[in-house]
Amino acid sequence: MPARDYYSVLGVKRDASPEELKRAYRTLALQFHPDRKPGDEAAAQRFRELSEAWAVLSDPEQRGRYDSLGPLFRPDGRPPSQDDLNAYLADTFSSLFGRKRKVRGDDLRYTLTLSLEEVAAGCVREVRLRRRSRCARCEGTGAEERDGRSPCAPCKGTGRSPTRRLLRSDCPHCDGRGWQKIKDCRSCSGSGVLDDEATLKVRVPAGVANGQKLKLKGKGDEATDGGPPGDLVVLLQVDEHPLFRRRGLDLLCEAPLYFTEAALGAELRVPTLDGHTTIKIPPGTPSGRIFKLSGRGLPEAGGKEVGDLQVKVLVEVPTELDAAARAALQALRPALDGRHHPARKQWDDALTSRPRKGDLP
Ligand SMILES: [Zn+2]
Ligand SMILES: [Zn+2]
Repeated sequence: MPARDYYSVLGVKRDASPEELKRAYRTLALQFHPDRKPGDEAAAQRFRELSEAWAVLSDPEQRGRYDSLGPLFRPDGRPPSQDDLNAYLADTFSSLFGRKRKVRGDDLRYTLTLSLEEVAAGCVREVRLRRRSRCARCEGTGAEERDGRSPCAPCKGTGRSPTRRLLRSDCPHCDGRGWQKIKDCRSCSGSGVLDDEATLKVRVPAGVANGQKLKLKGKGDEATDGGPPGDLVVLLQVDEHPLFRRRGLDLLCEAPLYFTEAALGAELRVPTLDGHTTIKIPPGTPSGRIFKLSGRGLPEAGGKEVGDLQVKVLVEVPTELDAAARAALQALRPALDGRHHPARKQWDDALTSRPRKGDLP
């Protein structure tokens, strides 16, 4: 009986053409040839497997027999041995009757809402969720503590296959455990798992994006019958920030500026994700100018780069003037003429030099 499926030994599909088979064999045989890897026992074994698979599959008649007999095929053409038959039947029966096909536990989903500050620094959050956990009473076996198990008769409690088998050596009756369940665990009714509330720590690396998913392997539901647990998939949702918008690694914000500050210069306090800082507004700063604070943006997820904080200043025009403010501004008017507003002067000059016939009636 072949130790492994000939097609997978050659890494080809079952309907591979003779040319595909030949190509696969040549490539692999060259790779594992003992001349190339002297003294490498694993490579030599692989080479023998390859040669056996090739010998069978390259001969149309042999290949036809292999395709119909499958694991019971013998390259020497003899009928399958009793051991081979036993092993084959045990495998077939166990899969037919659902013996310990290790089924994975379900994946769980959780939506985690983060602040931009948490994104910037990374964080560890505790999440509470309903989860199937392993039953502590029976340690997930499903068998009652004292009198729930009896030694497996076919393997005499060893867990090893009672027949000599080539493909696997676990006892098919007890799945290698050496015992069989005769009484269900009282706590979990034999399933090995319990519905539970669980608190799990989720480590969120810095720089994650809105909508990104984190997979916590093995943190989903525990499987019944000792299969592997599912995963916990955490969907990350980043809250809108009242001050900052995010563009790639950069953070953008808009700072309102008194027009006196814009004209005379000022020290302006601006927020950052970890507090605030001060930027110098030089005299004559136009509305809309962007001040870049490098390295004050977000870190690259899993990288070394850090974005910038871009502060766009917007001159705020005073509204709802009281009498005093109005009078002060009126007094300012003659002092601030075109000499101080070059763009406005250019505009006015352009208009005066134009023929008047474009004027609206
Ligand atoms: Zn057994
Ligand atoms: Zn239990």
